[in-house]
Amino acid sequence: MLSFNEKPVFYLKVLPVLIGLKLNHCDMADIVLTTFNAKYVHTAFGLRYLLANLGPIKDRAVLLEADIHQWPIDHAEAILAHKPRIVGFGVYIWNVPQTYETIKIIKTISPDTVVVLGGPEISYAYERHPLYALADYVIPGEADLAFRELAQRILAGNPPHEKVFPTEPPDLTEIELPYSLYSDSDVQHRVIYVETTRGCPFKCQFCLSAIDHRVRYFPLDPVLQEIKRLIERGATKLKFVDRTFNVRLEHAVQVMEFLLANYRPGVSLHFEIVPDRLQPELIELSRKFPPGALRFELGIQTFNPEVASRINRPQVNKKIIDTIRTLRETTSVHLHTDLIFWTARRNTRIVCHWIRSACSTQPARNTGWYLKTSPWSSNSHPRRTLSNAI
Ligand code: SF4
Repeated sequence: MLSFNEKPVFYLKVLPVLIGLKLNHCDMADIVLTTFNAKYVHTAFGLRYLLANLGPIKDRAVLLEADIHQWPIDHAEAILAHKPRIVGFGVYIWNVPQTYETIKIIKTISPDTVVVLGGPEISYAYERHPLYALADYVIPGEADLAFRELAQRILAGNPPHEKVFPTEPPDLTEIELPYSLYSDSDVQHRVIYVETTRGCPFKCQFCLSAIDHRVRYFPLDPVLQEIKRLIERGATKLKFVDRTFNVRLEHAVQVMEFLLANYRPGVSLHFEIVPDRLQPELIELSRKFPPGALRFELGIQTFNPEVASRINRPQVNKKIIDTIRTLRETTSVHLHTDLIFWTARRNTRIVCHWIRSACSTQPARNTGWYLKTSPWSSNSHPRRTLSNAI
């Protein structure tokens, strides 16, 4: 990838001319919401929330997705073609270099364009993040409603003086749902993210979701009706991003019964599950779905009680193994288990034991992760690296 630091003459002198030649022929939008997804099939769920909640300025905004295999120069050109006054970037662990390069190009060509950053990667310890210095504003945390407030102030000529625009987790009953913003093409060809809750009650030391351990629930009926509409429109890959789907039995049963009643052949439904707390009622319900319908991602992370205690993850290993065996032997759920090697502190013997234990349950897929601490993140929140799956 062309680096800004390696090619300053190109970026500062040639690029503005090249892009400037093309910018005269494009539709304008005051706000561009954008991100680099890890893959084309992934959809930017968070940005769709921002767009859905822009209220009276929604018509002045466009959503522009790229993936990390696209060149920042091309994406900057696509953004600038709209002549935006504000560009909002969703920042994730996988797209920091691409976002950095893109902002550099935008600020070189159009220094008055206001750059706003949000997303998990810029929500904690942001002052030390390399993107922080490039941004005009940072919104840490859930920006569903805060982005609109900030954008309205900027467009009205009353921008805040502080770079960090603080926000509290919004009341989920006040948020506009974003599901109608999935296009027909998204629905037919890409992964469609949905959620019925936010937050996680557990406090695993390595996980950003543990920071807010209150579980908040969306009003369920509207979400379920949106999911039904997505299935009717042809969605086949629905991924629930609820951090722990089985946290409350009554809620999970209601969702699964609705999905069973509205199931269409070919639809796959993905859930993140804490295995040693998987309730028998949910196992029983999962038996009623046809093969290929359900995918459970089961977080094991470690088989070592001392490590589990150290990372604030109390769990019962025998129950985990029994649950996975029961699911494998009595249901057709596609099982995917997770281990995190970082917790073993590079002890190969421990890691091998974990892998043997996890494989003995014979899930369809077993994934191991290292963890790393980003140089700008606090030591208490190391992040997953995405490249070390086995
Ligand atoms: S690892 Fe899973 S269970 Fe633990 S805090 Fe994160 S989301 Fe919750």
